[in-house]
Amino acid sequence: MTPDTLLGLANLTVPRKPDRSPTIYPDPLASPVTATQALSLPRLHTSELGALRELHETVARLVDGLLNGSSVDRAAARLTKLAQPSIATVRLDVGERQTVRARLAWSEPTPAATLARMVVVELGEIDVTRLKRCQRPACGLVFYDTTRSGTRRWHAESPCGNRERQRRYRSEHGSDETKPAR
Ligand SMILES: [Zn+2]
Repeated sequence: MTPDTLLGLANLTVPRKPDRSPTIYPDPLASPVTATQALSLPRLHTSELGALRELHETVARLVDGLLNGSSVDRAAARLTKLAQPSIATVRLDVGERQTVRARLAWSEPTPAATLARMVVVELGEIDVTRLKRCQRPACGLVFYDTTRSGTRRWHAESPCGNRERQRRYRSEHGSDETKPAR
């Protein structure tokens, strides 16, 4: 599995730098419409944006801590608290031929509590050493490395992998040539 909710929240306001354009600082939590789209939520009220921003900042801090080795205790406690209103009841589902299955039915009190709980569950299931930040300096998006070798360096081959290879090739081979104006 890939921790899609975690990554979506961690990357929500990471600046983007399109080629030959100024850096964009996205802020989808500025309005219910953009927040709904960015987080794939059914609908939102303006009053729910504050809790979602707190969740976003908590997840970003937690991921930063996991990536740079600093303490994540406070961020983890904050995330736990945000997830707390989302509670589950257990039910027993009966299938064919007397098979039974236990299932958790979650309450969905607020969008922030639901997303916080999803992030906690994702963090419990993934290998956190595979959480990485894209190594293209202009990018900075966080991704989950699902390669068998665990050696992926870019959030995507296009554009980041391709651009970084071009840049490295130019810096290694470009010294004898007239360098293009940058
Ligand atoms: Zn990237």
